[in-house]
Order: sequence, then C-alpha cells, then structure tokens
Amino acid sequence: MNQLSCNHCGKKYEMTPTLWKCDCGGVFNLVKDTPKIDVTAWDHYPNSLWRYVETMPFPKGSKTWETVTMGEGQSPLIVLDPNEPNTYVKVDYMMPTLSFKDRGAAVLMTKAKELGVTKVIADSSGNAGTAIAAYSARCGIACDIYLSDQTSPKKVAQIKAHGATIKEIHGTREDIAAAAQKAVDEENVFYASHVYNPYFFQGTKTYAYEIYEQLKGAPDALIIPVGNGTLLLGAYYGFRELFENGLIHKIPKIVAVQAKNCAPLVKAYQNEEESASPVTNKGTVAEGIAIAAPARSKQILEAVYKTNGTFIDIEEEEIIHARSKLSEKGFYVEVTSAINFAGYMKYQYQKESEETIIIPLCGAGIKST
Ligand SMILES: *Cc1c(COP(=O)(O)O)cnc(C)c1O
Ligand SMILES: [Zn+2]
Repeated sequence: MNQLSCNHCGKKYEMTPTLWKCDCGGVFNLVKDTPKIDVTAWDHYPNSLWRYVETMPFPKGSKTWETVTMGEGQSPLIVLDPNEPNTYVKVDYMMPTLSFKDRGAAVLMTKAKELGVTKVIADSSGNAGTAIAAYSARCGIACDIYLSDQTSPKKVAQIKAHGATIKEIHGTREDIAAAAQKAVDEENVFYASHVYNPYFFQGTKTYAYEIYEQLKGAPDALIIPVGNGTLLLGAYYGFRELFENGLIHKIPKIVAVQAKNCAPLVKAYQNEEESASPVTNKGTVAEGIAIAAPARSKQILEAVYKTNGTFIDIEEEEIIHARSKLSEKGFYVEVTSAINFAGYMKYQYQKESEETIIIPLCGAGIKST
C-alpha cells in the first residue's frame, strides 16, 4: 500500500480512499523513491502517456490503466515560427477532453478504480472537472463536480454530457473548493482533486518525459502557466526524475506565468517568501488559473527557485492580444492558454542567450467563448 507524507509537518499516513489532507491541514506527497527509468521498456506500451507507466507508483504488471485510457498523451511538439527555430509549442489541447488535465485525470482515476472507489467528488474552474467527469464515466464511477456559476457554458455542457452531477456554487474559487471538501467529508467519498491528490502529478509529469523523447534531451526553459501548479509541479517532478536517472544533465528553468489580476505566487516570489499568502482575485479572463490561495504554493515556489527560474505577470490586454497572435499562426487556444504565449513574449526580452523554450498550449479554443 502507498504511503503519504504531509508537505508541511512531515507526518506519514497509509493511503486510504477517503484521506485527502493532513490533520494539520497540509497537502500530501507520495512517499516513494525516484523510479529507475528503463527507457527500453517504453516501446512495449501503446503510443500514449502510458509508455511511462513503469515510472508510476502502480503495482508491477497492473493493467487497470488499459480499461481507463482514451489515448491521452504524446501531444505534438511543433516549431511555432520558422524564424525562431528553438521555440516550440507543445500542443497539449490535443487530448480526449481538449486540455492537459487529461494527463492527471487518467492516472488519478486509474488509481481510484484500483482502490475500488464507487463515487468521486472534485471542484474545478472547468477543465479539471471536465477531465475527471470523462474519466469517471470511463471507469463507471459516479462523479459530482463543484464549480462556479460563472463557469464557461461550454465546459459545463461537456461535464454534463459525461453524466456527472453539477453542483453550481455562487462564490469564489476557494468557496467552491470548501463546498466540495465539506461534501467529501460528509459523504466519506474519494476526493478526485487535481490539487490535493498526488497521483494527479504522476500523470502531469509525463509532460516532461514526452519532451525528453521529442527533443532527445531537455530544453533550456519551460514557460508554464500557474494557478494551482498541476502542470508546473508535474513538469518539475518529471524532469527531476530524468535528471536523477542521469538521462539529462540539467533541469530546465521554469518560467511561471500568472495573470496580474490574480498573482499570489508572483507576489511571494518578489518578496522572496517561502509560501504565498492569499490575494483577492481582481478578475481575469484567464479563468483557468485564477487561484487566489494555491494550496501547493510552497512546492511551486521551491520548484521555480531550484531551477533558477522566474515569475512573470501579465496584463489582461496582453492575454487577449496573445490569443489573436497565436491564432494568426494557426493555433486556436482557450483564453486562459493565451497567457502562456504572452509570458513567452515577455520572457524573450530578459533571456540571456539563445535558448530552447517550450510553450504549452493547454486548452482548446472552442472551450471558451
Ligand atoms: C488547469 C489549467 C492551467 C493551469 O493549471 P494549474 O494546475 O491551476 O496551475 C492552465 N491552463 C489551462 C487551460 C488549464 O486548464
Ligand atoms: Zn501535516
């Protein structure tokens, strides 16, 4: 059985289907060693993120994933503009539910199925809810999704289509999470949270493995949007595993991007703090990353500090402008995702040398209005 340890106080627990945070309120990490990476094993698996299943904490030979997968992962890595041959976009909206959250959801719901769970609850600003709803349907597991009454109607329709029950909450993102957490405790069910459940990061870490294969090495810098940090931490853990196995010689710099109107992590970084204090969300079109009180702020800041990365904040007009710039190059992303390209444009002016840079395209354009 897997063990969990608290990121705040270090207390250890046996994993159970209903335990989701420490008595002290801290978030959990998985207790495990760095996996031994056997590159030659990858070709024994289908062309999906399950190529890397042997690096994930599942029992050896476990085949549950075969009944859960919808072919997620192995998204294209494309040079965005021939004039900038070292800048790539990773087209992570080419996924079953059209966002990178499928990486985490596929792995998390595989774990839930293995634990024999019959119902899950999750809260989301949209895409995580869509992904958890889809994979719950795939697993035959009942699913309630808590979300804001302001959520994009297209995302709500997508979640409903998978048969999940929608719980619309009028309030902040934090109010919605609190409502979901209360229901998890009252109903004593599995919290399929992309923020709290560390298995989600075992899925998002495959972002790094794929880039490693596609580039035959590591890039210099990763542009990463950050709200709760599920892609950021996944990418960091993935590259760290590759590094600790001696497959790459350095971990890429993480250039983390937030909307200026909701930027608790940028603020903490500027003040050289260890963790972020909650801010007030002043409202941003980047709805998918508008997180005023990120639960894993300490880990996110640590990842950026350790890779000699940086934080960039972006104005609302820059996000809209970046979305049309990307569309002009052929890539139609949801509004939140445009911030990644805006972050790249800003970063270009401060980088020191010619660098290989990856920009993720996290969500498809038709998801937002
Ligand atoms: C979830 C999401 C993000 C950022 O994810 P966090 O885990 O909150 O950091 C960025 N863009 C899109 C489109 C997303 O769905
Ligand atoms: Zn604790």
